[in-house]
Amino acid sequence: MKIGYGWDSHEFKRGIPLKIGGVEIAHEKGLGGHSDGDVLLHAITDALLGAIAAPDIGTLFSPSDPRWEGADSAVFLGEALRRVAAAGYKVLNIDSTLILSTPKIGPHANALRDRVSQLTAVPPDCIGIKAKTPEGMGTENAAIAHAVVLLQKISTTAGRKPTKKPRS
Ligand code: MG
Repeated sequence: MKIGYGWDSHEFKRGIPLKIGGVEIAHEKGLGGHSDGDVLLHAITDALLGAIAAPDIGTLFSPSDPRWEGADSAVFLGEALRRVAAAGYKVLNIDSTLILSTPKIGPHANALRDRVSQLTAVPPDCIGIKAKTPEGMGTENAAIAHAVVLLQKISTTAGRKPTKKPRS
C-alpha cells in the first residue's frame, strides 16, 4: 500500500469558465492558470504522482510549455494514472477537500464525484469530495484543493528485483 498527497491553488479570474473536478460549473469567474486551472484534478494528479515517487505535475507538464496552454487537466490525470498502473498499483480510494468562498460546492459534489470516478475508474463510493469556506484565511479570490490517494499493489513483479533461482 502507498499513500499520496497533493495540494494546489488557483486564482479566480473573470471571463473564463470554472472547471473543478472535470466539471464545468456556472459561475461569474473561473480559475486562471496555464491549463484549464482545474485545481481539484491537479491536486489528485499530484497525489497519485507522489504516491509512486514520480516527478510532480509541474515537472511533467511545465507551465512554460506551450503544449499545455489551456490543456484539459484530464490529460495530466491520465498520465499520472498510467504511471501508477505501470508501477503495478491500483487506486483504492481518493479523498479531497476544496477550500473556496464561492460557488457552493455541495450542490455539485455528486457531479464532481461521478466525473472523477469516470476519469480514474475508482468507484464513486471510494471518492471523497468535501468543501469548506476559507474562514479567516484571506484567500477569498482563490480555490484551494487538498487530495490524498491510497494505492494497492496489484502486480507482485512490477518494480521488484528479479529473484535468484533456488539451488537444486
Ligand atoms: Mg494547478
